[in-house]
Amino acid sequence: MTQFTYDGLPGRVVFGAGAARTQLLTELDLLGARRVLLIATDAENGTATQLCAPFADRVVATFSEVRPHVPAEVAELARKIALDADADVVLSVGGGSTTGTAKIVALTTGLPVLAVPTTYAGSEVTPVWGLTERGRKTTGTDRRVLPKTVVYDPELTLTLPVELSVASGLNAVAHCVEAFWAPRRSPVSSAVAEDGIRHLVNGLTTIASTPTGLASRGELLLGAYLAGSAFAVAGSGLHHKICHVLGGAFDLPHAHTHAIVLPYVLAYNAPNAGEAVGRISRALGRVDIVDGLRELGGAVGVPAGLRELGMDESGVDDVIDDILAIAPADNPTRVTAEGLRAILHGAWAGSHPVGPTA
Ligand code: NAD
Repeated sequence: MTQFTYDGLPGRVVFGAGAARTQLLTELDLLGARRVLLIATDAENGTATQLCAPFADRVVATFSEVRPHVPAEVAELARKIALDADADVVLSVGGGSTTGTAKIVALTTGLPVLAVPTTYAGSEVTPVWGLTERGRKTTGTDRRVLPKTVVYDPELTLTLPVELSVASGLNAVAHCVEAFWAPRRSPVSSAVAEDGIRHLVNGLTTIASTPTGLASRGELLLGAYLAGSAFAVAGSGLHHKICHVLGGAFDLPHAHTHAIVLPYVLAYNAPNAGEAVGRISRALGRVDIVDGLRELGGAVGVPAGLRELGMDESGVDDVIDDILAIAPADNPTRVTAEGLRAILHGAWAGSHPVGPTA
């Protein structure tokens, strides 16, 4: 008999092409927000400023010092700016690093976040925050960081280069895949995850030929929302634990790291995760799901191995203990140092993923 506990998360979601251009003022009013701290990187600042034009008088401060994996000193600076400006809302326009910075401000100030994502990271619908201090990334869960409102607008993702779009889309696929075996999995998260993969694959298979097609972008963004939602309630499994340690230790780009590592963890778990494999295969439309995933990235130049991201192979031994310490006890295939070494050396070299040794 199936048994589960499902703890649904609150949050308002507005989705549609042009939604960021037309809905932000309404959404700020619904939050009762009058003093906006805008967080956007320098690269996204032009777009963000245009989006804020209808309520420019409410923007009391702008923070653009966003860095990947939210270094502690960046978090402290953003918090100080929010307090000095007496902001009553944090508006983030950008990828997961930008959303992550807004979440840390929410954690330390209690301010609500209105998130406008521009990648497929999915952080905007999770209560998970991350912070990096001295090369070690800490994450935690706190409902205060969950954005009150998310405005998804596929138009904002049109500028995301194809290769980064595919890496970010595969990062979202990773959220879905892990939702099948993550600690708080349920029939709800599995159904959302399966449909998430379907939308993501629709987008991933058409994005290279139509990078400025709103249909592909819309599929990817909808899939990213579903993926983030599944991940938010199911929690993170072995794959996320590995990527989180690698990201913090070697400052690797988040989406690419996920895109590269996922097939190796999938191959490791597949022999002991029959239901997940069946659902992924159905959504992907492929019998060989490991090859299917690798082909999606390989076709548009997503690197095959971590070495192409600049990681040194000697780093593999440095992180095994850190990953073992946080590896989920109920991972479909028991996590061993030897198993991790095989996953990481394979992912480093970009060799064909193999299953666990008996
Ligand atoms: P990112 O936010 O670092 O963005 C990657 C690059 O894309 C940046 O250079 C950015 O300027 C650029 N970019 C963003 N949107 C663009 C657009 N529309 N057009 C052109 N360029 C654009 O990367 P990411 O993969 O979105 O997010 C990664 C971060 O998010 C990591 O720190 C990860 O840990 C975090 N994350 C957290 C959660 C969570 O639940 N807490 C979930 C997923 C990811």
